[in-house]
Amino acid sequence: MKSILVVGGAGYIGSHTVRELMNSGYHVIIADNLVYGHREAVLSDDFYHVDIEDKAALSKIFQKHDISSVIHFAAYAYVGESVSNPAKYYKNNVANTINLLDVMLANNVKNIVFSSTCATYGEPLYTPIDEKHPQAPVNPYGQSKLMVEKIFQDYKKAYGLNFICLRYFNAAGCSKDGLLGESHNPETHLIPLVLKAVKGEISNITVFGTDYETKDGTCIRDYIHVEDLARAHKLALEKLLNGSESVCLNLGTGIGTSVKEIIEAAKRVTEKEVPVVYGQRRAGDPAILYASSRLAQQYLNWKPEYANIDDIIRTAWNWELNKRF
Ligand code: UDP
Repeated sequence: MKSILVVGGAGYIGSHTVRELMNSGYHVIIADNLVYGHREAVLSDDFYHVDIEDKAALSKIFQKHDISSVIHFAAYAYVGESVSNPAKYYKNNVANTINLLDVMLANNVKNIVFSSTCATYGEPLYTPIDEKHPQAPVNPYGQSKLMVEKIFQDYKKAYGLNFICLRYFNAAGCSKDGLLGESHNPETHLIPLVLKAVKGEISNITVFGTDYETKDGTCIRDYIHVEDLARAHKLALEKLLNGSESVCLNLGTGIGTSVKEIIEAAKRVTEKEVPVVYGQRRAGDPAILYASSRLAQQYLNWKPEYANIDDIIRTAWNWELNKRF
């Protein structure tokens, strides 16, 4: 049986995807530099502690194993840091992806599922955002992901690369059984910060802006459960293995939830108060982002199982209370 190489398989979405693949009977190899990934989240015995900057180390993996496809999560994803240190983002997210592609093609591996982002769209011109929406990123992180998407298109024409780019909206929640979860350092995401405020781990959650033109003045996002994302990666992989066309797909629920609604949901789920401070807008935050995932639903025959924000937050709360890493 051929193997699937998951690059960045020790990270948040990567580890959930590895689990989904292994539960479906795939042989999975993980490569991760463990800069942001966690050793405890590595689920396969075939683990390589490598950076994709290191072509020689990557080549050894491809020579040792019979790899059919790659799922590529390895990227830096802090928007603010990408503005202050773009070199880090272009080197790791773009140049190192070219390294990975070099090694893949040298070993005749032509299938790649790529973790892209709604940040490639930039400031939305309309919502829900579909895949035809113009892509005009407003920060180096989004630029770096869009550059890779464009590289794939050229590599398809020139070298026969097959790709599926999955543009996630806001990944959220943790595995149902509490074995895997979200553990970023530093943590910047809304849901884990709200739950840390409930626990008293931080003094409060600051709401970034209450004067947006939305129903309650706070930003609206599309929160998609990490296990729904994981399943979409497996289905995308299977599409590539069956010879389907290369494509870019949005992954979201299509439901917009405001920051205040997240806080209300957290109160219901935890049955505790959330200490809230109302602050200024955060630079670069669009008022409203939510997806049309119609294309993904059709193409992958995929539908998010989690459509209720309370259910998503419940899994994240379970993780916060019983964190393994
Ligand atoms: N947000 C907030 N306070 C925080 C972190 C985030 O009000 O401490 C808001 C942020 O402005 C955005 C939403 O929560 O509207 C989701 O932010 P997050 O950083 O989780 O994801 P992003 O949408 O930036 O990818």
